Amino acid sequence: MTTERKRLAVLGAGPGGYTAAYLAAEKGMDVTLIDTQPNPGGICCFVGCIPSKALLHAADVINSAAEGDAFGVTFNKPAIDLDKLRAWKDGIVRQLTGGLGMLGRARRVKYVRGRGRFSDAGTIRVMNEGELTEVNFDYAIIATGSVPVIPGPLRIESDRVWDSTAALELREKPESLLVIGGGYIGLEMASVYVALGSNVTVVEATGSLLPGVDADLVKVLSDRLVPRLHELLLNTRVNSIAEDGDGITVELSGADIQESRHFDRALIAVGRRPNSADLGLEHTGVQLNERGFIEVDHQRRTANPAIFAIGDIAGEPMLAHKAMHEGQTAVEVILGEPAVWQPAAIPAVVFTDPEIAWCGLTETQARTRGVDVEVTRYPWTASGRALTMGRTDGHTKLIIEPGTERILGMAIVGHGAGEMIAEGVLAVEMGARVEDLKQSIHPHPTLTETVMESAELLTNTSAHYIARRRRD
Ligand code: NAD
Repeated sequence: MTTERKRLAVLGAGPGGYTAAYLAAEKGMDVTLIDTQPNPGGICCFVGCIPSKALLHAADVINSAAEGDAFGVTFNKPAIDLDKLRAWKDGIVRQLTGGLGMLGRARRVKYVRGRGRFSDAGTIRVMNEGELTEVNFDYAIIATGSVPVIPGPLRIESDRVWDSTAALELREKPESLLVIGGGYIGLEMASVYVALGSNVTVVEATGSLLPGVDADLVKVLSDRLVPRLHELLLNTRVNSIAEDGDGITVELSGADIQESRHFDRALIAVGRRPNSADLGLEHTGVQLNERGFIEVDHQRRTANPAIFAIGDIAGEPMLAHKAMHEGQTAVEVILGEPAVWQPAAIPAVVFTDPEIAWCGLTETQARTRGVDVEVTRYPWTASGRALTMGRTDGHTKLIIEPGTERILGMAIVGHGAGEMIAEGVLAVEMGARVEDLKQSIHPHPTLTETVMESAELLTNTSAHYIARRRRD
């Protein structure tokens, strides 16, 4: 019997890749983790989730200070030291990614820096500044993530036109900023630059911000964010973009607009696409679908049974926590454990102010799929805790299966909604019923009570709110 450890190569050290690598090492595999960056962390830690949340925290402090006036606490206009803010954010990234590197070394994971490419179905060749390392493997996990989409007409060589990475660098605070795309990235970065004092215009191709997200959630966000924007242009596209003087000129075309406008800077945030080009996949048998995602089965296995794919490259939603969980599944499958990728609820959080978070079945999905559901909506105006924070702009809603009263989904809009949605994930995953949420004592006074009380709305037994619709 051979006692040789199985060799696993993980290509891409973002949250999916490093989670897979570290679990595999803990479970006794011989692991090599490959990435171009000096440490693990990927887009999320270096130029995504983490730096954006640091800047959104600063924005939150600025906004909260401005609102203290309402209860008699008045601050002077904030003085923003951009260099210090940037250094603070960069320090967080360094600390986190350095810590991830240390965790890998402690687990004896080999870290190979460079760009990896499959040369055959058992080898990845890694190039770093002209130096070649060959990594041979029994199994591989591809976790190379995604890259921003920059549509052809908007593709110009200019440091005045940013993608999300450039926007997060915080090189400057433009007087006027055009944000192209009213999705996750567009709205999070618009929130940051509005708080810093830029005049921000958002252009969105569809008729709504955050297309696809429940309209009642988006409305609460819009009511607070849109008045702070210089302008919001819905049903509008940017046809072209060119440098002009110190800034840029764009051609806008939309339902009510057909004109050129000048801005200091523009951020393009119109989506991301899988980073599947030039990986040498033609040598492996791994198949891509028509959108460039790697095709995987319910265990994250590609068309080559020794190669797995996880995270953004393996399909939507492109979210770090989904990648991490897929990474765990892939490793368990490789080790012969009975694992399958079959989540009942993947949470999503838009870190705007207020935040929007949801998991499981959404109201919009139920409607478009013709699924019969009951929906309860608990307004935060009826939450004592929300009142004490001066933040009653929010609500908590449950999507419930009629008859069984099983919780199929939860959605929350409000300050800190992202911290609350995990209870919904647990409820959906555990097959909890309305009664379970009602019978679980929630601490008072907290915003989490709105989850319990939205369950009570089904029977109109909430102490603090009387639903208009009665169920007799
Ligand atoms: P997105 O898909 O969320 O939003 C893109 C928006 O741009 C859409 O509203 C779309 O209608 C609009 N659009 C497309 N073409 C346009 C055009 N020519 N002119 C104007 N508007 C146009 O994409 P994103 O914001 O770039 O984010 C990419 C992905 O990154 C997201 O899907 C998400 O998975 C991930 N992400 C997640 C978070 C988070 O979890 N908080 C944060 C940032 C990014």
